[in-house]
Amino acid sequence: MCIFCDISSGKIVPADIVFENEHVIAFRDINPVAPSHVLVIPKKHIRSMHEIGGDEISLLGEMILAVQKVAEKEGILKSGYRIVTNVGADAGQTVDHLHWHVIGGRKLGWEF
Ligand code: 5GP
Ligand code: ZN
Repeated sequence: MCIFCDISSGKIVPADIVFENEHVIAFRDINPVAPSHVLVIPKKHIRSMHEIGGDEISLLGEMILAVQKVAEKEGILKSGYRIVTNVGADAGQTVDHLHWHVIGGRKLGWEF
């Protein structure tokens, strides 16, 4: 269905997987912007946060728990980290499969 579906199904693209369960998968971004840059995605193909429906609310909880595990594994729990999700063109969304960027490992700026 899309490149992230291919990664989550293990079909193609060897991905550097940090965490996985039946609902979500977390893997390193191919073009990291910080020492730690992991993408957390639902295995189900959902285009963006804006397409989350009532049936998928529990999936967001799974994603939050996955972020916590990623932050612990990456050793960025104490130093801090940021969760970012882009919705649509102006935000810079380039892959139309919901993903949360988990970014840390250095002091982050705040620029738009
Ligand atoms: P967006 O710009 O949609 O918020 O984020 C998409 C992210 O996916 C980008 O940071 C980009 O580097 C990453 N990305 C795109 N294609 C691949 C890929 O094939 N493998 C991995 N690991 N990351 C990818
Ligand atoms: Zn997909």
